[in-house]
Amino acid sequence: MSDNLYDLFASRFPADPDDLFIETDSGARYSYADLDAWSAHFAHLLVDLGVTPGDRVAVQVDKSPEAIFLYLACLRAGAAYLPLNTAYQQAEIEYFLGDAEPRVVVCRPGTEGWIGEAAAKAKTPHVLTLGQNADGTLIEQSRTKPSRFDTIARAKDDLGAILYTSGTTGRSKGGMLTHWNLASNALTLHKAWAFRPGDVLLHALPIFHTHGLFVATNCVLLNGSAMIFLPKFDADQVVKLLPRATVMMGVPTFYVRLLGHTGFNQELVQHMRLFIAGSAPLLTETFNLFRERTGHTILERYGMTETGMLTSNPYEGDRLAGSCGRPLADVEVRIADENGVSLATGETGIIEVRGPNVFKGYWRMPEKTKAEIREDGFFITGDVGRIDEKGYVWISGRAKDLIISGGFNVYPKEVEEEIDQMPGVEESAVIGVPHPDFGEGVIAVVARKSAGDPPRAEEISARLKTRLAAYKLPKHVFIVDELPRNAMGKVQKNVLRDQHKDRFSR
Ligand code: AMP
Repeated sequence: MSDNLYDLFASRFPADPDDLFIETDSGARYSYADLDAWSAHFAHLLVDLGVTPGDRVAVQVDKSPEAIFLYLACLRAGAAYLPLNTAYQQAEIEYFLGDAEPRVVVCRPGTEGWIGEAAAKAKTPHVLTLGQNADGTLIEQSRTKPSRFDTIARAKDDLGAILYTSGTTGRSKGGMLTHWNLASNALTLHKAWAFRPGDVLLHALPIFHTHGLFVATNCVLLNGSAMIFLPKFDADQVVKLLPRATVMMGVPTFYVRLLGHTGFNQELVQHMRLFIAGSAPLLTETFNLFRERTGHTILERYGMTETGMLTSNPYEGDRLAGSCGRPLADVEVRIADENGVSLATGETGIIEVRGPNVFKGYWRMPEKTKAEIREDGFFITGDVGRIDEKGYVWISGRAKDLIISGGFNVYPKEVEEEIDQMPGVEESAVIGVPHPDFGEGVIAVVARKSAGDPPRAEEISARLKTRLAAYKLPKHVFIVDELPRNAMGKVQKNVLRDQHKDRFSR
C-alpha cells in the first residue's frame, strides 16, 4: 500500500461494497461501490486531460456527493485538490487561478462563462462543470470511463490538497497539505472521538473548508460508515434527520439555531452519541443551554486550515465550557512569546503547534512560510491563549485582534466577556480602529438578544467603567441586531473594522 490517502481509506471500506456511504436530503443513496466507481471515472478523465501528479484541480461547486467523489478522484490521480468557497466572485477566482495555475477547473453549470475567462488568463486548459443533480460536463465526459482505476502511489510528503486561508488580513494564502498531514489527523480524530461501526454522521457543513471536507468526511471514510448529507444547514431538516444520526459536527451557530428551534428536544437526540463544535468559539451560554435541553455535552475542538485539528475536549472525561480541550495525541502545543520562547503554565501568549498534521507551507510563498514556521518545526498559529495546569487550552483571541490604544494592550475577549454578561446582550465584538491620538481607539459592537428589551449603550458604558481600567473602555458602543459572520460562523471583525474605520477621523 502506498501512502496515498485514498489507499488508507480503501483499506477501511466496509466488507460489503453495497453498504451506504452517503444519503442526501432528497433520499438519493450512494454506496461505497458508487464511491469507488465514480472516483475511478473522474480520475480517468483527469488523467486523460493531462493531469499528472502534483497538478492542481480547482473546484468551485455546490455541495453534492459527486463533489466528494471528485476530491477522492484527485487523490487517486495524485493531483492536489483545491476547493474554493462558493461565495467567491470573479476577481477573487482570477486571483486563485492565477496563483495556483490549475490544470483543470470544475465549476457550477452556468458559471463556466466568467470562470472560463479567468481560467484563460491563468492558462488553465480545461473547464468542466458539476451541478447538484449529478449533472454537468464532468459527469457527461467521465460516465463512459472505466470504473476501475489504479490509484497512483504517493509518498507521505506529496501534496494532497491546497486550501486557501480566508484572508481576513491581506491576500489569501494557499496552505499545502500533504497526504500524511491529512491521514495522520484523520486517524487521530477517528480514535479520539471513538468512531465505531454503524455511526451515522449528520453533515450540514460546507465542503470547501477543512471542517466539512477533512474533519467530517475523512472520519467517515476511515470508519467505512455512512453520512447524511444536507446541502446546507437548515434547522428544520436537521431536526427531522437527527433521530437517524449518531454524530453531528457543526460550527457554534448550528447549535445556537437548533436551540432556537421549537421542535428541538431531548427525544430527538436520544440515541445521538456525540455533538462536536469548532471553527469559532462556542459561547458558554450555548454550551450550558444545550446540556440543559438535551442532556448532551457538546465537545469543542480547535484547529485551522494550515494544521487540521489541534486540540479536543475529551471523549471520556471533563468537557469544559470555554476551553477547546487538550492537545491531540500526536500534536504538541506550546504557549510562546513573540520570539518563540515557551511561557509558564497559565501565562497567556501565542499558541504554537508542531506535529505530523502541520502543513508543508504556503503555496509559492516561501517567505511567508519561513515567517510562520519556526526552525524547530513549530507553526505560529496567530491565536492567543493559555494552557492551564490540567493541560486544557483556553483561546482568548487572535493576535491580530489585539488592540493597542495609547500604548496599552487591550485584549478584546476580556472586554467582550464583561459585555456579554449584561442583560439583553446576545454577544459582542470589541475592535480597534485608527485613532488620531491613541493609535487605535476601542469600539464595541453589541448584538442584542432577539427577544426582550434591548440593552442601552450608555448603560453598558457605565457598567464597564466600574469593571475595567479606563484604557480598556470602548469609546463608542453600538447596538446591532446581529454580528456579521462568514460561512464558518466566525465573527468578521475585519468587516466591523472597515465599517468603523473613520469613526475617530478628525
Ligand atoms: P480556519 O483556518 O478557517 O479553520 O480558521 C482557524 C481559526 O479559527 C483558528 O486559528 C482560530 O482562530 C479559530 N477557531 C477554530 N476553532 C476554534 C475554537 N474551538 N475556539 C475558538 N476559535 C477557534
